[in-house]
Amino acid sequence: MVHVIIVGSGIAGLSAALSAVQSGAQVTVIERAAEGEHGGNTRYTEAYLRMKSMDEVADDFVDHFMANAGGYTDPSIEQEMVRDYDDWSPLAKSQSGVDPEILGTFAEQAGPTLRWLERAGLRFDFLPTAFITTTTTRLLPVGGGLALVETLTQACKDSGVTFRFQTTAQSLTTGADGVTGLRTSSGEIAADAVILASGGFEGNPEMLARYVGPGAINLRPVARGGHYNKGEGIRMALDIGAAPNGDFGSYHAEPIDPRSGVAEPAIFTFPYGILVNREGQRFTDEAPGTVDAHYENVTRRIYEQRGGIAWLITDARLDDVPNWQKGSRSDQPPMCGDTIADLAEALSLPGAALADTLERYNAACRDGAFHPLEKDGLATEGLSPPKSNWARPIDRAPFKAWPIISANVFTFGGLKVDRHARVIDQDGRAIPGLYAAGETMGIYYGTYTGSTSVLRGAVFGRQAALHACGQTT
Ligand SMILES: Cc1cc2nc3c(=O)[nH]c(=O)nc-3n(C[C@H](O)[C@H](O)[C@H](O)COP(=O)(O)OP(=O)(O)OC[C@H]3O[C@@H](n4cnc5c(N)ncnc54)[C@H](O)[C@@H]3O)c2cc1C
Repeated sequence: MVHVIIVGSGIAGLSAALSAVQSGAQVTVIERAAEGEHGGNTRYTEAYLRMKSMDEVADDFVDHFMANAGGYTDPSIEQEMVRDYDDWSPLAKSQSGVDPEILGTFAEQAGPTLRWLERAGLRFDFLPTAFITTTTTRLLPVGGGLALVETLTQACKDSGVTFRFQTTAQSLTTGADGVTGLRTSSGEIAADAVILASGGFEGNPEMLARYVGPGAINLRPVARGGHYNKGEGIRMALDIGAAPNGDFGSYHAEPIDPRSGVAEPAIFTFPYGILVNREGQRFTDEAPGTVDAHYENVTRRIYEQRGGIAWLITDARLDDVPNWQKGSRSDQPPMCGDTIADLAEALSLPGAALADTLERYNAACRDGAFHPLEKDGLATEGLSPPKSNWARPIDRAPFKAWPIISANVFTFGGLKVDRHARVIDQDGRAIPGLYAAGETMGIYYGTYTGSTSVLRGAVFGRQAALHACGQTT
């Protein structure tokens, strides 16, 4: 019987574990967290899925990935990628970037994987999201990520998977034929295959400073689960020659209220106000388009400000936005003032600068119809930076403000894999016995293709297990 070790019990690890045990393997899951706290990021997400139905990915799925395919890619290598994979050179196989093999498999297997999760007891529906304006379609598992973790953990246990909680994977053991097992905090375990599904390195300040930069001191995981992801899975594979993939210098950014300790205290209402930095000045277009498509780039601009922080300033007109509260998920109340001077004092911002910013912004707003639930083109005139939609004066007390920082939802840097989630080495060869899925495999560059990370974990966790058990799709 094939023995498969899986590191991590988020969506990638649990999909791999259930799939492997259903394929007849002996399966051991190694998980650093205690039972009930396990599941990493997956435990805390609502798990939006960029699908237009249970069986088809959203219309913009492939195009969005291709538009964010990684740096200035080399056309001489890209041209090879239209051939059969077996004809690619070692350079192409180990190339960092969004490769068509992975993207094609991802899009093709998303539907069948969701149907397989459905058979495991999960339900999916088009439920409301936190986005007030949207561009793409999103399906959700009923009960969110917690339901994914709990349902799949139980299904794995019922099928005979062994869980070793509070056990940390440290390094790989290798022999002449590739990977032979894993060293853990409680000893060495031999295996025919190891599937690394231990997340990214959002919980490791040293790796964040090294790859993302010293400003990463101002980043924190968007929820408690990310703190468990300290990058060992990625590092142990790089140590034996794995090729990197995904932008190691970047991460998925989300705007959150730093005062709040709830999971994902996102502030998605910034398109209806202005953002100012510690100097009391605007620094970005707060409303280039729908919030779901633009929140990451706006958050990156916040991260670039001194101290990595900005404040959303709104006035009584915010109440004209129906149900704006759904986009404001902090458990902390806004900071208030009856005048701009009061508000500046409450926020410890320079009062004269804030007043000047608001005066110039208000003077640049023009008359026009305000449509809060769709892009309305109500833009400022003659202001730099502009505000492209929903621009109305901010002059009606009470004034309300929220501090916003960039959260690190997950890091982009990971391992290069092929369509079976086999880890590829720097010479384009699959490392025998080694697989990676979920955040541990890197695929993202530029702007994150939103609502695809949970799907990535499910699809490639299953792909890895099927291949390790000799059943390829
Ligand atoms: C609040 C929030 C909202 C999000 N919203 C969405 C969304 O709507 N849609 C979407 O697609 N994505 C979303 N994401 C991102 C997505 O949830 C994650 O990227 C995805 O769930 C990661 O799955 P994973 O299995 O790769 O990693 P994780 O779920 O993070 O699991 C990794 C596991 O590995 C364990 N581990 C780590 N290191 C070791 C080690 N050395 N030894 C043993 N165990 C180890 C961890 O404890 C953890 O249990 C969100 C994330 C959060 C936190």
